[in-house]
Amino acid sequence: MDFWFSEYHTKYVKYSIKVDKQLFSKKSDFQRIDIFYSKEMGNILILDGYIMVTEKDEFIYHEMITHVAMAVNPNIKNILVIGAGDGGTVRELTKYENIKNIDMVEIDKDVVDACLLYLPQTACKLSDPRVNLFFEDGLKFVRTKKNEYDLIVIDSTDPFGPGEDLFTKEFYGNCYKALNDDGILVNQHESPFYDNDAKAAARINRRMKQIFPVNLVYQAHIPSYPSGHWLFGFASKNLHPIENLQTDKWNALRIETKYYNTDLHKGCFALPNYVKELLDEDE
Ligand code: SAM
Repeated sequence: MDFWFSEYHTKYVKYSIKVDKQLFSKKSDFQRIDIFYSKEMGNILILDGYIMVTEKDEFIYHEMITHVAMAVNPNIKNILVIGAGDGGTVRELTKYENIKNIDMVEIDKDVVDACLLYLPQTACKLSDPRVNLFFEDGLKFVRTKKNEYDLIVIDSTDPFGPGEDLFTKEFYGNCYKALNDDGILVNQHESPFYDNDAKAAARINRRMKQIFPVNLVYQAHIPSYPSGHWLFGFASKNLHPIENLQTDKWNALRIETKYYNTDLHKGCFALPNYVKELLDEDE
């Protein structure tokens, strides 16, 4: 008998993957966690019915949420990662010897425990001595921080459920305070394509613009996410993602990547017209 997992991208569109094995299922205090194995996509982490990570395409998301900021400021040393329970973001950041400290604040310890068992491809660097794990709400954690971090990465679930607070103006304001003068914030910025996702992307951008003087959006192609067209936000107190790109310094580090490179870095900020219009909308 065939078993297919389907995620509804809209009421009328769904994305389906044939599941070969169910590896894990649990209702945690925050969400339902499922991990499936598929011949095509490898192991897949699903939270509340939404795909978070597939082994086949996670490299795109995790490289793009980390290396863009690192190439703008390769001197980044102290980092706050919010969410990111699968560990992929931390795996990419630990490629930099220069980084001294990574605080990762994940609300749901069960996600981390499940990924350590079933997604070692992403969770493999969570035991790096520079990584401190906090099982707390990112919104509360960041409230207590001032002028501390060089980079904040918001690798959260979508703007509903436990992740909802990580899309508020209050949260972005506290992130601004938690960053030092050269601080950069990168967040997952939803998809611009289907109406509901596009509304969320426009809302994120409106809120970020009110807080950060530098605020740009970049894109990547991620096959397992709705429409495959995904956005990330780059916000900072003064560093510009293209004018301040340290091409030679970053390439000299010889960081191994499968998707990101410094040519792509410049190109990924060039947005299609419909996305520009969406992000320019006031209301
Ligand atoms: N790559 C993913 C995506 O966009 O689909 C995100 C992956 S990561 C698994 C997201 C994590 O954010 C989840 O493990 C979830 O538990 C965590 N999270 C949600 N709300 C949070 C909050 N308020 N504070 C800290 N972590 C949170």
